[in-house]
Amino acid sequence: MTHIALGECHPFEAAGRHFLYLVPSAAVFALDDTSAAVVDTLRGRQLAPAELMARLAGRFEPAEVEATLSELAGARAILPVDPARAAEPPPAPAPNIIPLTPIPLSTLVVNVTNRCNLSCAYCYEYGEDKITEPTAGGMPKLMSEETARESVDFMIERSGNSPVVRLTFFGGETLLNFAVLEKTIPYARARAAEAGKRVEFSLTTNGTLLRPEVIEFLADNDVGVTISIDGPKEMQDKFRVFHDGRGSYDVVAPKVRELLKRHRSRPIGARVTLTSDVLDITRIYRHLTDEIGFWEVGFAPVTTSPGRSHAIGETGFESMLAQFRSLGYEFLEAALEGRRHGFSNVRDTIEELHKGASKALPCGAGLGLMGVATNGDVALCHRFAGSDDHKLGTVRDGVDGAAQEAFLDAHHIDRKTDCRTCWARPLCAGGCYHEAHTRYGTTEAPNLHYCEWIRGWTESCLEIYGEIAERNPAFLRQFDPPPAPAATEVNDDASEAR
Ligand code: SF4
Ligand code: SF4
Repeated sequence: MTHIALGECHPFEAAGRHFLYLVPSAAVFALDDTSAAVVDTLRGRQLAPAELMARLAGRFEPAEVEATLSELAGARAILPVDPARAAEPPPAPAPNIIPLTPIPLSTLVVNVTNRCNLSCAYCYEYGEDKITEPTAGGMPKLMSEETARESVDFMIERSGNSPVVRLTFFGGETLLNFAVLEKTIPYARARAAEAGKRVEFSLTTNGTLLRPEVIEFLADNDVGVTISIDGPKEMQDKFRVFHDGRGSYDVVAPKVRELLKRHRSRPIGARVTLTSDVLDITRIYRHLTDEIGFWEVGFAPVTTSPGRSHAIGETGFESMLAQFRSLGYEFLEAALEGRRHGFSNVRDTIEELHKGASKALPCGAGLGLMGVATNGDVALCHRFAGSDDHKLGTVRDGVDGAAQEAFLDAHHIDRKTDCRTCWARPLCAGGCYHEAHTRYGTTEAPNLHYCEWIRGWTESCLEIYGEIAERNPAFLRQFDPPPAPAATEVNDDASEAR
């Protein structure tokens, strides 16, 4: 006889209410008392329908339980199972081959230089874990105007029917090639207008070269700016130093204040790299928002091989999670009062939950997002730009469709056996390829070193999301997806910094 079991889901509680995060559909499902009792009764076991009814008898009317079972079955929160086959592992899902066309390019990250005027010890481009020699093989230090224009042409051509395309300037230190950036923006705007599109510009910088005329230009041209900065002076100067060892805080802080004063058309964000030595997240957040004036702050643990002294260990991840939670609950308090809060990590995850993000791939690298090296080589993303092993083509000759298809197929979530039973996979999908490459030597590996952290943080975000959904649902309307066109199921993540 067929039994009933819970489908793949993650139960959680928020605002005194029970919820289910349904893994196959990535939907969040609020439970009433009857459905919560059904879920609770089925946790860790499968039951014949009659036994399930018997266990709930006295608390709920049979008709009510039956209606609830039918509703839960419709949402695939419960499934019929054959008890004779209970001991067998679930069949491996067949990998979904991602249709290659037409997937438009939505973000192009152009590395306008591979030089940097800082010498941050943890830098993934120049530090001990670099995957490529930035200036090897005749790679130019600065991208030429011509290559930048060709990159724009490539972007417009590959953006399909998308009305908006994002062009992000990156480095090295991006502003070392301000001359090319300054000429490329009007060119891109003109090319996009011819094609009936709009371009959104952004850049990441270490802030050291924000001269008044640069700030004017960025403000006048609505260029979104992300500043790589690690916090107050003692934290910033630990790793973010000039080549002579001098800390950069005293140079960066006044320039950023000027930028924030003048550039009001786009929110200016800070991007913090967390290390074993720089992990006081609350203090960093307060400094960057209250004392400097950033609109938002995002944190990311350093990408590094485990042996490095700045690598975050197990206790570091625990501390990080506790601090993320406490800042996350501050975000929640603000959301319940309809106020804005600048902790972008929680905002981004809540947005994904609200949109029902279910990722076949961890990010848009190699798909909706690509990176361009200074010589015009196209790679998976900005972090792989210049690496021959991760090259997809060039801005002149286009992308090698077969190489791209092979990459996407090899990295599909269904190929990652360790992730198959993980409830957090709709949001994580195995994590960043660059992190995996640095840790395990291959982009195909799931980032198993941070699963506990990912699941812990996702759980907190689910709770925060559930609380907001119950107590101030109007706050979530800002994340409603636009009516059309439909978004792809991968995320672009080009807010990296170093
Ligand atoms: S890497 Fe870990 S947390 Fe991420 S989907 Fe895989 S098993 Fe889950
Ligand atoms: S998540 Fe990693 S692989 Fe993806 S775009 Fe960001 S840096 Fe590149």
